[in-house]
Amino acid sequence: MCLLTLQLSAQDLTTTADSVFIRNIFDQALVEGESYQNLEHLCKDVGHRLSGSKAAEKAVEWGKKVMDGLDLDRVYLQSIDVPFWERGDIESASIKSDKDITLSIRTLGGSVGTNGLMQGSVVEVSSLEEVAKLGKEAIAGKIVFYNRPMDPKPISTFQSYGGCVDQRYAGASVAAEYGAIAVMVRSMSLLEDDGHAHTGSMGYKTGVNKIPAVAVSTHDANVLHDHLQKNESTEVELNVNAHTNENVVSSNVIGEIKGSVYPNKVIVIGGHLDSWDVGEGAHDDGAGVVHSMEVLRILKALNYTPRYTIRVVLFMNEENGNMGGKGYAAKAKAKNENHVIALESDRGGFSPRGFNILADSSQVDFVRQFREVLEPYGLHHFEPGYAGVDISPLDTKENKVNPDLIMMGLVPDSQRYFDYHHSDTDVFENVNKRELELGCGAMTSIIYLMDKYLQ
Ligand SMILES: [Zn+2]
Repeated sequence: MCLLTLQLSAQDLTTTADSVFIRNIFDQALVEGESYQNLEHLCKDVGHRLSGSKAAEKAVEWGKKVMDGLDLDRVYLQSIDVPFWERGDIESASIKSDKDITLSIRTLGGSVGTNGLMQGSVVEVSSLEEVAKLGKEAIAGKIVFYNRPMDPKPISTFQSYGGCVDQRYAGASVAAEYGAIAVMVRSMSLLEDDGHAHTGSMGYKTGVNKIPAVAVSTHDANVLHDHLQKNESTEVELNVNAHTNENVVSSNVIGEIKGSVYPNKVIVIGGHLDSWDVGEGAHDDGAGVVHSMEVLRILKALNYTPRYTIRVVLFMNEENGNMGGKGYAAKAKAKNENHVIALESDRGGFSPRGFNILADSSQVDFVRQFREVLEPYGLHHFEPGYAGVDISPLDTKENKVNPDLIMMGLVPDSQRYFDYHHSDTDVFENVNKRELELGCGAMTSIIYLMDKYLQ
């Protein structure tokens, strides 16, 4: 059974009432907005907040306090077991030469340490397949350097990222299978970035030797490449002391307004509260957190009574485990909660362009009907596509909360996202106030329209 009414005429959606209401939403976001100030508090008072850390718990308290101030029907924490990886206090790499050349690195999340100084000669590759092709003879005892850059051609930089990130996630295990002692991975960034390596998650395949894995800044990846070109052999000295601790109990932070017509049907909106332990997690995903909470604030400020229950979830542990997303979905399934829409913001606080829609084609058409009324606000992208990591477990076989669930992801302009992503430069100062606020307007408008017209 399809839950949607698809016969909306264009006229319904361009009625003065809707146009005026959406104008009011954007006025709220741009004139009375609290998202920028909230983001400043999260970035400056809490700072970066990797799962398991004290700062992550401070972020939970902060999120609950902000939602408590929104006069919602219910605000609560949901316990989530999370991994606790720590970078440690040593991170250094240098090319051994007459005069050593220091390389800017960041240990990848989940990596083991080097156990003191480690030195090895470097083999440069551009893919996981190349490691297999070179085989044990060339790889054993070496440091493998994955240097395939992000492709500058796709207009969506997420596409370029997707075409590259296998090196970061799986590079260590593939290299270890052929006897490598460590891996260095070119940072996932299109910027020639001097001094800022970009971290991110990596994983070890079971049964394979765990070897250290670090990201090297794009600039220094080029330095290392040039050195390899000019010299017969290149030796790198590496020293990192990352380690994984016991799991820790943390929380998702949840706030909701009860639906007036369908209190048992849920529209869930969210971003992730955790961040990497570098920078301030401003775009990733402080922006998504404040976007989501601002939806509730704006709807309350405009005295809108939602038909469906509108729930904001600040998910814990997206970056290195997605335990918040998985735990939320499992609990929703266990409680037999019917989710009708899930909307995530986890692509930064840049000017919004529209939404990715993960749903069947008739549902995509349903959402596309709203394009006309939203286009004046720069929102034109209403395309099938990936919605978001945190909400993705709601649509797995084991957790399927509703066969008609519409999943959506806010799509902001992506050109600068990977300049900052997972690096020291993902700080509050690199988020533009207006662009952030426009994202709040976009999120609130689509939720208003869908709450009003979804049958
Ligand atoms: Zn994120």
